[in-house]
Amino acid sequence: MTATHCPYCALQCGMKIGPGPAISPRTDIPANAPGALCQKGWTAGELLTSTERLTTPLLHGEPVDWDVALDYVAYRLSAIRAEHGPDAVAVFGGGGLTNEKAYTLGKFARVALGTSQIDYNGRFCMSSAAAASIRAFGMDRGMPFPVTDLAEADVVLLAGANVAETMPPFVRHLDGPRLIVVDPRRSPTARLAWLHLQPTPGTDLALALGLLHIAVADGLVDEAYVAARTTGFDDVRTSLASWWPERVERITGVPVHQMRQAVRALAAVERAYILTGRGAEQHAKGTDTVTAFINLALALGLPGTPGSGYGCVTGQGNGQGGREHGQKADQLPGYRKIDDPAARAHMARIWGIRAEDIPGPGRSAYELLDALGTPEGPRALLLFGSNPIISAPAAEHVAERIGSLDLLVTCDFVLSETAALADVVFPVTQWAEETGTMTNLEGRVLLRRKALDPPPGVRSDLDVIAALADRLGHTFGTEPVEVFDELRRASAGGPADYSGITYERIADETGVFWPCPSEEHPGTPRPFLDRFAHPDGLARFVPVQHRPAAEEIDADYPVYLSTGRVLAHYQSGAQTRRIAPLVQAAPEPYVELHPDLAEQLDITAGDVVRVSSRRGESKAVARISDAIRRDTVFMPFHWEGANRLTNPALDPTSRMPEFKVCAVRVERDS
Ligand code: SF4
Repeated sequence: MTATHCPYCALQCGMKIGPGPAISPRTDIPANAPGALCQKGWTAGELLTSTERLTTPLLHGEPVDWDVALDYVAYRLSAIRAEHGPDAVAVFGGGGLTNEKAYTLGKFARVALGTSQIDYNGRFCMSSAAAASIRAFGMDRGMPFPVTDLAEADVVLLAGANVAETMPPFVRHLDGPRLIVVDPRRSPTARLAWLHLQPTPGTDLALALGLLHIAVADGLVDEAYVAARTTGFDDVRTSLASWWPERVERITGVPVHQMRQAVRALAAVERAYILTGRGAEQHAKGTDTVTAFINLALALGLPGTPGSGYGCVTGQGNGQGGREHGQKADQLPGYRKIDDPAARAHMARIWGIRAEDIPGPGRSAYELLDALGTPEGPRALLLFGSNPIISAPAAEHVAERIGSLDLLVTCDFVLSETAALADVVFPVTQWAEETGTMTNLEGRVLLRRKALDPPPGVRSDLDVIAALADRLGHTFGTEPVEVFDELRRASAGGPADYSGITYERIADETGVFWPCPSEEHPGTPRPFLDRFAHPDGLARFVPVQHRPAAEEIDADYPVYLSTGRVLAHYQSGAQTRRIAPLVQAAPEPYVELHPDLAEQLDITAGDVVRVSSRRGESKAVARISDAIRRDTVFMPFHWEGANRLTNPALDPTSRMPEFKVCAVRVERDS
């Protein structure tokens, strides 16, 4: 049996594989100790033996030899670059790729292709929380404490995360504390809550301002902490003047007495946490929304206090590591800014090129997809570990843009909806067929070990990248440990310093927390206990103001749409929709609506419903439930459909699209 980790979400539960693809839980990994897995984890072995595995490269849908496919791609890339310049080639990565792959992809784009056009699907995941954390704390370490700390808390406020479905073993860490959940739906997580605040979609920012207003007005601010560990509170205090609770109740629909109950519960106890998830973050004002929750946490003296804190519940398996090693448009390895001259000089030394030859920042994920095939945009796209036809907002428009490319190349192990459109598909290894590191939602670097040989004909993403780099005149490593050693050197001295982390240490210590600047360093489970990462060591209060959603409901589109996940499926469903027990558990897309709305629209449970927005149309089966607000419908996004409707309005700082709220019309499909 081989000890490794789950292929799916950011909890990265420990599991064992063997004999063959059989899965059993590990008991030594704190995230899921003493041995819990959700149904996605238990069934992950089926993915390895799926009859839908690709085992031969496809060129325009026809099986070809590896050399034919690689030569073709290298030739076309060279021709497109020669005709249109290096930025005519774009690279799109994924938050499920190992750290080694994320690092190599960023290096491939900047060194071998010389393009600035690289970003990844993690931009759609937790980029607003990352931007807000950097602004407040000077560093983004997702959840800057071990997840097991939560169990010791007295109160936890969870804003916009349905962990009971997305990562069920996480719920065990919430058994002890009193739980306050903020969610427009009475989700399975909200049903566990002591207090459920159910705001109108798109109003979480107003709610957070109202909570802080109450804390200030009721004298609940931790003045000693604010004076010793923060700066900027006076400006925030002033900015709150117009967010009195009754006004916030009118905007959010959350009763004043519930807001007061939440704030008093948080302020009355010694140990409390505020956590945010996609529900609070996936908005055109997501960075400011998270900032408002961080302001509340700072006012109550939580971040960097033993037993308390603020954290982001990251979603994708390597959502944290994926944003640290250079596959983001604006970053270099070590979580460095790409426009920082010192960072560019450092990476130029590691890569053996001139600093001025490292391209500058490129387009963010949606902006990149939106520009594909346009006169100014990329003509070729290399796609790794992502399925944007399903997962991007305004998905029909994105499909059109992808369809207008001169060259689409994907690396995948099954023919996902996006891979089905590709000129070339390279069949690649899966999680249990290769070794590599993942950084989970706690910032703990973990080792995924190879347990099985891949099917004949399949190669790793690292092999594919190196083979293309070779044809473009560059030498890239293919051994994960060799790549990790280069990544360690690249990260040295940066915010996400991995230089002291080795495969051996990870194995011996069941993971190592970054920053870890030397092999003698123990790693940093709780980085903010003594100081925050700004040069003066202080956290920043940042004044923010609520504004309406980018698209509000009106006479034509009178209902809010919110999207999310279900227990049985993961992200675009490319993996989980191919696993029989998961398909049996959740076979089809649905739209959840309140009984009053259903009656008004003459819809009964099981009817096929047409949902339309200004961007597209989708059909799904109706589910009637009073868990949803009367003015809102909910659709899971694992199938084609939900993201045809969503709004690509972007947050000005994080460039996160507004997945979590848009205006739709709902009708029975006659
Ligand atoms: Fe895998 Fe996440 Fe489920 Fe754990 S909670 S088994 S990491 S999908």
